[in-house]
Amino acid sequence: METTQKALYIDASTGFYRVRRYKVGDYFGPVDLGLHISGRLMSLNFGVGLFAGSIFPGSNRLIFTGFSPSWRGFYISSMGGAGLVFDNLGINLVSLVGKAALPSVLYLNRFHGEEIEVEVEPIDLHAAWAGPVFAAREASGGSGFPRVGVYGLLDEVIARHGPRYAGAYRAFAVGPAAEATDFGGIVSSPVSEGRATNVDTWAGRGGLGSKMLQEHGIAAVIYGGTVVDEDFRDRKVADEWFEAKYKQKLAVKDFEATTKYRFDPKFATGGTLGVNYASLGGRMIAFNYRSVEWSEEERVRLHEDLVLGHYLKQFNEETIATKSQATCGEPCSAVCKKLRGDFKKDYEPYQALGPLCGIFDQRAAERLNYASDSNGFDAISLGGVLAWLMDCLDSGELRPEDLGVSTVPRWKVEGFDPVADSGHNADLGLELVASIVGKRGQLDLSEGPRKWGRRIRRERGTRILDRFVYTANGRRGWMVPNQYWTPGVLSPMAIMGKYYMHYGSEFVPPRQLGRMCAERLRKELGMDNAGLCRFHRAWGEEMMAEAIGSVYGLKEQYLQAIAVAASRINSRNAAVYWESAKNVEFLRSFLLRRRDVDKDESPELATWIAAFETDSAEAALSFWFEMRKGIDESLRDFF
Ligand code: SF4
Repeated sequence: METTQKALYIDASTGFYRVRRYKVGDYFGPVDLGLHISGRLMSLNFGVGLFAGSIFPGSNRLIFTGFSPSWRGFYISSMGGAGLVFDNLGINLVSLVGKAALPSVLYLNRFHGEEIEVEVEPIDLHAAWAGPVFAAREASGGSGFPRVGVYGLLDEVIARHGPRYAGAYRAFAVGPAAEATDFGGIVSSPVSEGRATNVDTWAGRGGLGSKMLQEHGIAAVIYGGTVVDEDFRDRKVADEWFEAKYKQKLAVKDFEATTKYRFDPKFATGGTLGVNYASLGGRMIAFNYRSVEWSEEERVRLHEDLVLGHYLKQFNEETIATKSQATCGEPCSAVCKKLRGDFKKDYEPYQALGPLCGIFDQRAAERLNYASDSNGFDAISLGGVLAWLMDCLDSGELRPEDLGVSTVPRWKVEGFDPVADSGHNADLGLELVASIVGKRGQLDLSEGPRKWGRRIRRERGTRILDRFVYTANGRRGWMVPNQYWTPGVLSPMAIMGKYYMHYGSEFVPPRQLGRMCAERLRKELGMDNAGLCRFHRAWGEEMMAEAIGSVYGLKEQYLQAIAVAASRINSRNAAVYWESAKNVEFLRSFLLRRRDVDKDESPELATWIAAFETDSAEAALSFWFEMRKGIDESLRDFF
């Protein structure tokens, strides 16, 4: 196995590049190396873990790191399967610096034994986003939606450069959201027979697509090669490790660990969308979190009528029953990508751009998710923003003309028609997407919703940010939380919007919750730094360090490097106390539900509820700082 990692530094302004080597042991992967480089350069880094190309399922994630334009802090975002082809370049990491004068495509290719080819080539971005419409694809069972935006650009780049590759290749690209906002993501999909497939994989969170385009002038990257390096492929040895730890072979342990993502007989469904919606019940969140203020009976009724009775039913019939599923591009028995035609369905985007926006119909949610994806948005953040704007329209705080749209949402729960009303809300969502991208009315999210929300307050005296559920970082950083009704998603961690926090649904006293979030950060960093998909965390969290110990003899050093990285990330923690009244209500109602519905009788819970009854503003502030104490005391620099 290689004992050094190769980082390819590319200056997008000139196309010049150089390779720098880092000893395994000084740095172990794309996270600690990306953190190191980001501390010195304003770069966007993407790379793979030491086990890319190995027999470990899920070991081929492409990990992006850099300073996030939306979160305004160091961020990590990753993309499933895209590291498998990257590994054929014979390098571990690309570090992009400088900015191309015109929007450009970065082309990376390498034939075995030869130097890497690096080209930065301008592209007519708006023409590519306008995209060709592939009639054949539609006729062959596609969605009927045109291949525009990110898809148009991917197709253009693949058509233009694909024939230059002797082996497998892949591309990733950004859409109009990367130009118009600070929360544009990056999309890729495996290439088959010269065409991008419909299995999108996203480095969505953190706006790193906006960064790639706005700070580096790179709209797409195409890469591939024929370099065969020495990857870990000894199944017998891996099985021995797994037998020693779990009394099971690797494949058996992995199959068992990924049940939820494939098909869970307990719920008669599969994937994150299927299993989460089957089990949410009264923990359901909808209509921009208004549901947290309802009674349990009202939430359960909503879940039964509109989710179990329609939204999930459609998904189960159309996707699960037909076994329409795929992998992200790497050999993986989880087959977590659940599909209907061109639409890939995960819980979080279909929740944020679904029930959170008052949409409970798959056709309506598909249209809005397509608009989000084709424009290249971070779908979860877009869902949070749209739900907030719809809430402002419904409450009358903003008028349709303020946002350049023609109507208001239909958010009346009584008599809600799952098809017609969802369709209406999705249509409004499409108008809002067009307004965000086209900056219509007063809407301008180029520097994020917090800054825009402050402007509206100055001009109109209305605190619209009070309706927006988000975590804040520094003066401008923002993040729509993961779609679970639990305090961990609003915790003051240095990186939010990912699973670097505890999101279990039980009540945990805040100080302890902070410690648990810190521990989760370390565990998840250990996975990300190894380039491993978190859906394999049931064994990956332990086994990656074990494997590094067995192959490199550096297990303790790896664990220490992760602890140092976590501590470094936290040393720049600029989390700001909740600015939105809705965050406080989210927490207060969670605590009450734990006591009244889940019958949690813990004295700490009762104490916190009493504190909220006395002075909810003060109680929320204390809860936030208790979490922060737990985080900071766990991530102090011990070294
Ligand atoms: S679980 Fe899904 S995303 Fe992860 S490696 Fe398997 S197919 Fe890819």
